[in-house]
Amino acid sequence: QVYAPAHFPLRVPRAFVAKMAVGDAHDPLLKQVLPDRQEQIAVTGYITDPLAENDQNPIKGLLHKYQSRILLTVTGACAIHCRYCFRQHFDYNANMPTSTEHLAIASYIKEHPEVNEVILSGGDPLSVSNRRLFAWLDTLEAIPQLTTIRLHTRLPLVIPERLDDALLDRFSQSRCNIVLVVHCNHANEIDTNTAQYLQRARVAGIVLLNQAVLLKGINDSVETQTALSQRLFAAGVLP
Ligand code: SF4
Repeated sequence: QVYAPAHFPLRVPRAFVAKMAVGDAHDPLLKQVLPDRQEQIAVTGYITDPLAENDQNPIKGLLHKYQSRILLTVTGACAIHCRYCFRQHFDYNANMPTSTEHLAIASYIKEHPEVNEVILSGGDPLSVSNRRLFAWLDTLEAIPQLTTIRLHTRLPLVIPERLDDALLDRFSQSRCNIVLVVHCNHANEIDTNTAQYLQRARVAGIVLLNQAVLLKGINDSVETQTALSQRLFAAGVLP
């Protein structure tokens, strides 16, 4: 019986499940998504806001922690629930900017000329529709001081088809540098289909980077990390 906490239930797309080895309880992709009762063990010193984000939240939907960049929580939704997620207790309901609040966010950025980069995050920023995402891009590109728009996303790995033609076309037309940071933790997440979609994004002029989480029993060996870096690089992603 699968343990499933109400605030953060099991969620995984079939395309990601298809990359798992059938019958292997220690599959490194399965272990990233299968809820475990050990999650509920209270550990002294562990907190639900490990990055102290609640203190860096001057207006709704906007985190300002580092001088030159801000982070926008454009959605609380994700295609997959990663058991290690450090935002699983984040109060998205209180931090979901509506379309009218784009203006307040744009004003905040203009009042802080030291900000040159905006990170679209969440949740997963690619889990919103192209229409909503393009509205964010329109708002941000109209702010002259911004040079870079960065998106942190797992979707190219768990549903590669999300990198559709309309999205890649819009990215390639941006006046800003578009940087996609995919969160890949294991080489098995990049099969042939995933690699092809990542390569298409690269051809469209998008900078592709990876940020991995070091996970016990999943990728905490030199061999696993080497394989991950090599598979990423072959798919056009800089580890
Ligand atoms: S995709 Fe990112 S934000 Fe969403 S559950 Fe996984 S780690 Fe958390």
